[in-house]
Amino acid sequence: MSSDSSPEHRGGCYVVTAASGTGKSTVLRELFENHREAMADVTFSISHTSRPPREGEVEGRHYYFISEDEFRRLADGGAFLEWALVHGQYKGTSLAEVERLRSSGRDVLLEIDVQGTAQVRHKIPEAVSIFLLPPSYPELERRLRDRNLDSQQQIERRLADAAAELPRVQEFDYVIVNDDVGRAAHALAAVLLAGRHRRDRMRPVTERILASLPTPPPGRA
Ligand code: ADP
Ligand code: 5GP
Repeated sequence: MSSDSSPEHRGGCYVVTAASGTGKSTVLRELFENHREAMADVTFSISHTSRPPREGEVEGRHYYFISEDEFRRLADGGAFLEWALVHGQYKGTSLAEVERLRSSGRDVLLEIDVQGTAQVRHKIPEAVSIFLLPPSYPELERRLRDRNLDSQQQIERRLADAAAELPRVQEFDYVIVNDDVGRAAHALAAVLLAGRHRRDRMRPVTERILASLPTPPPGRA
């Protein structure tokens, strides 16, 4: 394990947002498979949702699937770092889980929508936000239709939501265009690695190295 990700320091918080159909899942899969160094010590936060599971989705791996009543109860009790109604379904990030992961020194990556990102930015000002853009709106529509996952009505809704979400790219720290999956994953890996090398994140290592300097300092010639 690299010394710059030592658990003696709190992990970072990264937020990746994209309109549905942009290719976020595809890019993140590529990131995990081919950029292991950037992903070392990065953990996904598993969201809670009131959406019923799709075929193949696994409880605790894709989401924690709960009822709408349970979701509202948790939200009212302050259990979420952020939550939002996304495409008509409640989605939220557990505050306790993010805290637990960051306290153990791990970087946490949240895959959430624009509304949730705004709440995270407010509560965790040092969070790094990344917006993944489709190459164009017509290409987004093509990807949504070719994916063959959603009904016509859901596709229309996701496209309408995308038209409202995309202009909010201006609120984000980093912008990556998913024209090519490999290139987009590479850019995302670079952002994660750069974040880990910020001076504040490197403080424990830096202090250890500086502590090895001779005392008193040798006089200059
Ligand atoms: P999201 O997770 O953002 O909703 P997906 O990862 O499911 O999107 O991708 C949506 C569709 O677009 C999938 O069929 C996927 O294979 C395709 N796709 C993803 N990235 C690209 C790309 N760079 N070029 C072409 N097609 C892509
Ligand atoms: P899905 O395709 O899984 O139904 O929905 C994915 C959408 O929900 C994406 O826009 C994703 O960013 C968003 N999402 C997933 N989990 C969360 C969450 O915990 N909070 C928020 N605000 N959005 C989420």
